[in-house]
Amino acid sequence: MSTEEIEAELRERLAKVGRRMFQEGLTHGASGNISARVPGTNTCIIKPSGYSFAELEPKHFIVVDISSRQVLKGTEKPSIETPFHTKLYRQWPGAGGVVHVHPRYSIILSIVGKEVYPMGIEIFEAPALAKGIAMSKFAAPGTEELADNLVESMKDKVAALMPHHGITTIGKTIEEAAVNARVVEQSAQLQYEVMLVGEPRPLPEPLLYELVERARKRGFLV
Ligand SMILES: [Zn+2]
Repeated sequence: MSTEEIEAELRERLAKVGRRMFQEGLTHGASGNISARVPGTNTCIIKPSGYSFAELEPKHFIVVDISSRQVLKGTEKPSIETPFHTKLYRQWPGAGGVVHVHPRYSIILSIVGKEVYPMGIEIFEAPALAKGIAMSKFAAPGTEELADNLVESMKDKVAALMPHHGITTIGKTIEEAAVNARVVEQSAQLQYEVMLVGEPRPLPEPLLYELVERARKRGFLV
């Protein structure tokens, strides 16, 4: 496959993942952004600013250089959060996709400073989350400070809560990053509801270790 063919396929997959996340209620309006690394290059394909995932088409996505953040293809403005997408690709050479969304329950828990612990069986779909979900330090959206805080918190974790704002996840592929994001939000909702009736109890540690091992063996980003 030529780089052009790989890029065309990634654009289709990004648009599809975006539509699914919209249907699942993970994003609303024009909020949130996603990107995918183009294998064998130092570039990624990222969502343009101002588009809803419901209306995004493959042609709308923009190709950006991971080091310089220069726009290489596309006429739209790249996502305001391009800085942390490119920094995450530099920090995680194995990452193929980045998802950033603003889902309700994750934001609620981040505001009260509650870490999200996977407690239900949805963790089996996203076993790398058994390593834990990071909590980044607050900074305003779209800033270099936010990018630095987030990337620092995700040194050894594939997901992070961003207080008062949302969540970011990575994966070996864009599809894997999107599943991680859905499972973070499902876990946050479960935890919120558990807290209404009692004290949340995390899954047993041996099971969490086993899940991380399973994630490694099955080739997930972990
Ligand atoms: Zn955001």
